[in-house]
Amino acid sequence: MKKLFGVIGLGRFGGSICKELSKEGKEVLALDADEDKVNEYKEIATHAVIADSTDELALKELGFRNIDHVIVAIGDNVHASILTTLILKEFGVKRITVKAQNDYHEKVLQKIGADEIVHPERDMGKRIAHSIISSNVLDYLELSDEYSVVEIKAGEKMQNKTLMELDIRAKFGCNVVAIKHGKDINVSPMANEQIHFDDILIIIGADKDISRFEKELV
Ligand code: ATP
Ligand code: ATP
Ligand code: CA
Repeated sequence: MKKLFGVIGLGRFGGSICKELSKEGKEVLALDADEDKVNEYKEIATHAVIADSTDELALKELGFRNIDHVIVAIGDNVHASILTTLILKEFGVKRITVKAQNDYHEKVLQKIGADEIVHPERDMGKRIAHSIISSNVLDYLELSDEYSVVEIKAGEKMQNKTLMELDIRAKFGCNVVAIKHGKDINVSPMANEQIHFDDILIIIGADKDISRFEKELV
């Protein structure tokens, strides 16, 4: 049986999830209360329907009970987002991902059992801030409050040095998990791996250690 996805709320975030899932050939039921939004997705999603997601009966009739993974992407209306999540949870939907507006919203979503809570604007803001601070930081992914994975462009200080010479793990407590040389990517670099100017390093570690590493070597 093909996995079924549901996207509730077709703003920029929900809309982009819907487009991407459809592009990947997934079955998507898209829903929005706004007729214009729904019309925009008629040709993109498998089905696009106009409904108020806080209307339990409407969701039931649309078959949301049988959807494997629902993404609740209602932005500003926190009340509607919570109520929708609660209804889906009561239906027994296996996996529910919800876009949170703020920390209080997130707490309520956790309590009612949302499986995944995302903060796209906040997370993207953090990533962009890191690349603004240092133009060598290409990407940044938060693993938890304290740990991250960063993608860093090797600076002059690393040029033609091996990981052992730079002694990254011992000095900074971070691990280089991959090194990209142009199109090639080495996903388990050895201690004798040499770094060249313009290589890209993927580093995992505690934020404070990564920050020290950036200050001294990037
Ligand atoms: P984004 O920030 O992702 O662009 P947005 O700021 O447009 O989203 P909202 O307009 O708050 O976010 O909500 C996204 C969509 O959710 C809108 O298209 C809106 O019509 C829809 N929506 C809001 N409440 C409901 C509801 N109860 N039922 C169905 N759709 C809803
Ligand atoms: P360790 O005791 O730190 O595990 P080791 O004695 O096993 O290292 P090597 O694996 O030869 O020695 O590496 C020597 C040093 O090179 C390490 O202490 C570390 O500082 C650095 N190093 C090697 N590989 C990496 C890596 N992938 N990321 C960061 N630093 C590395
Ligand atoms: Ca918004």
